Amino acid sequence: MTLISPNTVLANALTNVEDFLAPRIRASKPLRIALVVGTQINGAPHAGTSLVQSMAFATAARLHDRHGLPVEVRFSALDNAPHELATDPASGHRYQRAYAHILGTDGITDLVGSLYRPLFDALSERLDVPYSVETYSEQQATVLFRETWLRVLPRLDAARLWLAPSTGVPHLRVPCPQSCGWAEKYAQRTRVELAGRGLARVSAVCLHHGPYTATVTPTGGGYLDLATLYRNMVKELVALAEPDVLQVMVKGTDWMPGSLLVDGALQAVGLTRGQLPARLFCPMIVAETGAKLSKSLIRSGEAALPAGAEPWMLDTRKWPGTVGQFADRLLKLAGLLLSHPRHFFRSYSAAELSRLMSVPTGSPTT
Ligand SMILES: [Zn+2]
Repeated sequence: MTLISPNTVLANALTNVEDFLAPRIRASKPLRIALVVGTQINGAPHAGTSLVQSMAFATAARLHDRHGLPVEVRFSALDNAPHELATDPASGHRYQRAYAHILGTDGITDLVGSLYRPLFDALSERLDVPYSVETYSEQQATVLFRETWLRVLPRLDAARLWLAPSTGVPHLRVPCPQSCGWAEKYAQRTRVELAGRGLARVSAVCLHHGPYTATVTPTGGGYLDLATLYRNMVKELVALAEPDVLQVMVKGTDWMPGSLLVDGALQAVGLTRGQLPARLFCPMIVAETGAKLSKSLIRSGEAALPAGAEPWMLDTRKWPGTVGQFADRLLKLAGLLLSHPRHFFRSYSAAELSRLMSVPTGSPTT
C-alpha cells in the first residue's frame, strides 16, 4: 500500500505521532492513560466516527507499548444530542428534546449496545485495551461534574466571551422537570442564579408547562445540559480532577479551531497553560470539495455523495462484512496512519479512504 503525504511543521517536529504527549507525560508523571472519545448518539455512526474511535484504541495500544503504563479507552456517549425540535408559537423560540429524554436510560443503553459496542468489543479484544462507556446523562449527574460546574459558575463572566464569542451568553439548558424534557434550544428565557455555596437556581419556560424553577446541587436537581463549548470546558475541568490519570481528549480535526476557544475559557477561569488538557486530533474524512464528509448534509439533499464514497461511510452498518472484519481493516488503516506523523496529521478524501480500506488484512493483529 503506497501512501504519500506532504510534510508539515508538526510532522517535521515529531518522530512518532504519540510524541506530542511527551511534555505532558514528563510533567504529570501519570500512572495511567485514558483516551477519551465523545460521540453524539444520533443515529448510525459514519466512517469518520469509526475512524476516530479506532484511532483512540490504536493510539492507546502504542502508548502502552511506549511507556509501559496501563491504558484504557473511555467512550462518552453524548445522549443529550437533540432528537426532536419544535417552535413555540407564542415566543417563536426553538425548543428541543434530547435522545436521553425521549429514549430513557434503557433506550440509550440499547442504542449504544447495538450501534457502538460491537465495534468497541472487537477493537478492545484485538488490542487488549479495555474500554468503558459513560453517557452524558450519567456524567452530568455525578457529584464531581456538578461540583465543578457550581465552582466555575461565579467565574463564568470571565469565560463567557470565549464560550459564546458572538453573544457573550453560553447556553445552559435545564429541561422541564415535569418529565416532558423540552428545553429552550438557545436558552433565551433561562436564568441562572447562584443561591449559596453548592446550590444554583435555574429558571426557564417550558413549551407546554410554562415557567419553572429547578435547583442544582452537587447530588441532584435539574439535568445540566450545556452548550457544546461550555460542556467541554466543564468536562475538561472534571478530567483534570482525576489524580494520576492523564486523560487525552480524542477528537476529529474539525474540532481544532473550537478547542482554541475552550482553551481560552479554561485559562479565563484560572488554569495555566501547562494545565490545559491533552487532545489528540485525528484525520478527517472529506469530500472532494474539501468539506467534512457530512451525513446530515447528504441526507437532507444539500450535499451530494462525494466521488468514491461508499454507502458504509455514511452508515457503518452497511459495511459489506462482519464487525470483526471492519475492526481488522480499521486497525490496519490506523497502523498505516500512525506509522508516520505525515500520514496522521492530514485529512483523507472519501475516495482515498475507500482505497485504503479495500486492502484485505493479513493477520488481524499486525
Ligand atoms: Zn414541560
